[in-house]
Amino acid sequence: MRTYDFSGKVALVTGGGSGIGTASAKAFAAGGAKVLIADIDETNGQRVAAEIGPAAAFFMADTSNPEHAEAMVAAAVERFGGLDIAVNNAGIGGPLALTGEYPLDGWRKVIAVNLDGVFYGMRYQIPAMLERGGGSIVNLASILGSVAFASASAYTASKHGVVGLTKTAALEYSGKGIRVNAVGPGFIKTPLVDANLDDATQGVLAGMHPVGRLGRAEEVAALITFLASDDASFISGSYHLVDGGFTAQ
Ligand code: NAD
Repeated sequence: MRTYDFSGKVALVTGGGSGIGTASAKAFAAGGAKVLIADIDETNGQRVAAEIGPAAAFFMADTSNPEHAEAMVAAAVERFGGLDIAVNNAGIGGPLALTGEYPLDGWRKVIAVNLDGVFYGMRYQIPAMLERGGGSIVNLASILGSVAFASASAYTASKHGVVGLTKTAALEYSGKGIRVNAVGPGFIKTPLVDANLDDATQGVLAGMHPVGRLGRAEEVAALITFLASDDASFISGSYHLVDGGFTAQ
């Protein structure tokens, strides 16, 4: 994967302890950024920070808790001197059930992590970036930010919400130096997919992507790091698919 020049930049990656977040954190560090990995999973988060080395630190945070979101941003500023890049990536799949039978607690949990968490993140990242004179935010939506998936109403609603939230913040802050974009991955072979979908289901899903396979975390990180980089200086308020052709059908 190519790297971009992130020297002198500070990046915050939520859910950096696994999958797409780990691939992104490593790509930012490879470009010279300091990286704060925020995750609810201390073991994985610490491991990824150790793998990266002194350019990275771990901060334990549940992004669905606004106090944690505020604290993780403060930690990035305190530890590395400011905040330039934020990737609001922490997310969960949630239960699979028809809408008319969907578990109420599952609905709340998915919306809390996938949608509230992105809002809480931006709520505190934006003021920190304004202090610095600008920045770039990349929010993780999904192909399910534009199309639906039966039995995944909470996830689909949360990711559609992330797209709307991204566009709103971009309207408000692009003129103040903060670009805000969303990415929409197709099905990517990460622990999230392995935990929720058996091999047979993954095989069927692979066939639904015109490229004929699931994606890799690094293929999403390549888009995230591009959007976060200065090479994407005229890109804001948009939703970018990385889906092997899934939504072209
Ligand atoms: P993953 O399960 O491999 O990693 C998610 C990470 O987020 C984990 O380390 C987990 O501990 C952390 N996390 C979960 N809840 C958290 C919380 N409340 N606070 C802090 N950290 C939390 O998942 P992934 O596949 O890498 O997905 C990352 C993002 O990409 C998610 O937002 C997901 O919805 C989105 N996405 C994934 C796919 C896919 O197919 N894998 C497709 C489209 C979008």
